[in-house]
Amino acid sequence: AASHVEDISESSYDILAIDTVNSQKLRPLLADIVTNTDFFKYYRLDLYGRPCPFWSDEGMCGNRACAVDTIDDEDHLPEIWRSEYLGRLSAGSTIESDDLDDALGDEAEESCVRDNDLHAPVLPQSRPMDYCTPEDVSGDGPGVYVSLVNNPERYTGYVGPHANKVWEAIYTENCFPDNSQWSYVSQPSHQFTSAVGRPLGQALMEGNKQRIREGGERGRHALNSENTCIEKKVFYKLISGMHASISTHLCNEFLDTETGEWGPNLDLFMEKVGNFPDRIANVYFNYGLVAKAVAKLRHYLEDFTFCTNAQGYDADTRRKMLRIAVEADRSVPNHFDAKGMFRDQPELKEEFRSRFVNVSRIMDCTGCDKCRLWGKLQVTGYATALKILFELPDDCTGQNIQLQRMEMVALINTFDRLSKSVSSISMFLKMLAHPESIP
Ligand code: FAD
Repeated sequence: AASHVEDISESSYDILAIDTVNSQKLRPLLADIVTNTDFFKYYRLDLYGRPCPFWSDEGMCGNRACAVDTIDDEDHLPEIWRSEYLGRLSAGSTIESDDLDDALGDEAEESCVRDNDLHAPVLPQSRPMDYCTPEDVSGDGPGVYVSLVNNPERYTGYVGPHANKVWEAIYTENCFPDNSQWSYVSQPSHQFTSAVGRPLGQALMEGNKQRIREGGERGRHALNSENTCIEKKVFYKLISGMHASISTHLCNEFLDTETGEWGPNLDLFMEKVGNFPDRIANVYFNYGLVAKAVAKLRHYLEDFTFCTNAQGYDADTRRKMLRIAVEADRSVPNHFDAKGMFRDQPELKEEFRSRFVNVSRIMDCTGCDKCRLWGKLQVTGYATALKILFELPDDCTGQNIQLQRMEMVALINTFDRLSKSVSSISMFLKMLAHPESIP
């Protein structure tokens, strides 16, 4: 199991394969589904109602860029997302089968549709299978609706000790007891120099591979020196990869305060991510892990119904989702051995789960609304991937998926975020190789 987990982040072949399938197949599919379907465009979460459980809320970001535009007027939402409608569903009713057949056309096989997530009680604590605290999904709870498209993840100016403290809490407050080396194991490595305009994977194959490996080894060394088990390494990689992905986005959509224009900031990217090969490798590791979870969903999707518009349920969204799941299964290297996890130490599973739940609670300490929105969404996305990988059986055809609607939205948007990171990393390396092309 150990080598399997490491393979996906260390093998330059896998990085090349991910780079190729991402740019040629999954990037366009993911960008399309998160931008053009109502189901994946809107998210409901408890953005303001949960105080930071670990320290008092100081250091809130007052920048305009930190603010979130919430949807206060439900008339601006597709009907299916409105409280009245959610309330109807959560009361246990089903969509009339005639309406559904109209919406699904020839594809419709279901006689009625239950939206499982809306039947799930909103619990203050995570449920036994959850890897995060559930978001508010009820129509009349404290949650707010947001359009993810209208609130893009980008540079907000949320910097300094408060932001650092949240990351530190994520890395250190969640240390497994016998390991004090969770945080900041990576060290700056050499600059990438030989990626002459080639895609990242190719560049890695040809020259930077060794550097990626060296950086990864350094990070691993710190963990290995503690004789760290694979489960803890995976936990660290997940957090570090998420952190690196968030950093990549804010560097890619950075606000130049002098010109007032948004655009990539190569120096900042190198400072935060590019000079740390293990952080790049962890982004790819997360991509592989989330892809594997999405691929596993392909059988479940037959029974999962999406709704995207006033007409009800939309087979088109399901088709798009299926294409992504099939492509993730067919083309993304699948070395992550979920079954190997917790085999030797089953008791670690509960520890792993509860610590990931803790990470989701720390997100409420983030002092910037926009960062909190995307932080919470991505933690929920990873938690959903873990739930799918560790809790759902493989022979899943016909079984109840037991996923909340918001978990599905978070999962696919997190996949999209990773996909965007992978293409941004590739772009930054090209910029590095061609400094003359930077305006
Ligand atoms: P930080 O990114 O705060 O990192 C702190 C320390 O962690 C670093 O000094 C380094 O030692 C270590 N470290 C950094 N990256 C990694 C890694 N990948 N793996 C392991 N260790 C690492 N800002 C925005 O502009 N837009 C956003 O959308 C946004 N979202 C955020 C979401 C969350 C949940 C949080 C906590 C912060 C967010 N921020 C966002 C702030 C941003 O992440 C940084 O905290 C901020 O830019 C300051 O960066 P920094 O260079 O001081 O180091």
